[in-house]
Amino acid sequence: MDNITASELAGFGVGALLFCATIAAPKIDSLISASQRSSLGMCKRCGDLRRIACSRCKGVGLIKAGGPFNLSMVDDINQSFGGGETKLGSTACTNCQARGHMSCPDCSKPP
Ligand SMILES: [Zn+2]
Ligand SMILES: [Zn+2]
Repeated sequence: MDNITASELAGFGVGALLFCATIAAPKIDSLISASQRSSLGMCKRCGDLRRIACSRCKGVGLIKAGGPFNLSMVDDINQSFGGGETKLGSTACTNCQARGHMSCPDCSKPP
């Protein structure tokens, strides 16, 4: 079984190369953009904003109360206790202290 020609072998090689390039392309792309940022002296995570949007409240700072815990009965209890911390059915995000963003963990730590 020695009937595989050089051109066939080359075709296999190119095919494998293209296959690898297709798979690796997104990774290489992200790698380049990350290295571009770092080469520019920018933070890879926040782009030098030094803060990132809170993932819990989506940068709003408030979490809309909802689901099984948002019963009107709870509101009534809150109101009878003098309002409490809730306003308009939203609670302050405890993840970011209602700021909507947090300081970038990459920037806050020493390089
Ligand atoms: Zn938050
Ligand atoms: Zn950062």
